[in-house]
Amino acid sequence: METENQVQRPVIGISTFNTLLNERTYSKISHYYAQCIRRTGGLPFLIPIHRDTGLALDYAARLDGLLLTGGAEDVSPLFYGEEPHPSLNNISPPRDAWEFSLINAALDGGLPILGICRGAQVLNVALGGSLYQSVKDQVENALGHGPKKTQAHHLFHTVRLERGSRLHGMFGSEKIAVNSFHHQAVKRLAKGCKAAAFASDGVIEAFEAENKRFVIGVQWHPEALCREHGEFLKIFESLVQAARD
Ligand code: MN
Repeated sequence: METENQVQRPVIGISTFNTLLNERTYSKISHYYAQCIRRTGGLPFLIPIHRDTGLALDYAARLDGLLLTGGAEDVSPLFYGEEPHPSLNNISPPRDAWEFSLINAALDGGLPILGICRGAQVLNVALGGSLYQSVKDQVENALGHGPKKTQAHHLFHTVRLERGSRLHGMFGSEKIAVNSFHHQAVKRLAKGCKAAAFASDGVIEAFEAENKRFVIGVQWHPEALCREHGEFLKIFESLVQAARD
């Protein structure tokens, strides 16, 4: 028997990354992302990385929304026309290529997209933007954005939300405190996007599509904040709602 639940839950695809353990490759992602999608009425659907990028179209055809997750791998600077800075971390061109394909398929299919941390960065690059490869080396008077040994749910620095942005509408406030676990950030924002949040050092902490479409990137990690700071669920709630519409 079909329950109301099954009818109403939009399917939200969640990107994963590959990790090697005991000489086996695993598809992996923090459980927090799935929890936040489930708690806000969506059906979490984990997406493995595929070399066959054509499969992105098959995924997009079955999904109602796309969540691009974080991760330790930097987007290869070759994808935005730069050579590597000495502080560049490990890269994964297969992950980049797969996520670019997912993004393009999702855009073609009119799906709402939420990018978190690396997900926001890969989204900006896919749309034609570029990144600071090392915020502490390339941004003047940069704040700390990547504290070591700090718990994921600890608020770390403030951001100023732009009036008129979706995020400002969600939080109803111009200044909120967020966590911060990144060493890169948006440098040149992609055409068609506008900044929605700034840190006090000028780093873009969130951006949104200029048109009416639900395309949002946030540099912090709302999925890790939701248990202690429930207001961050609003970001996932908005994605699920956009996926339902
Ligand atoms: Mn930050």
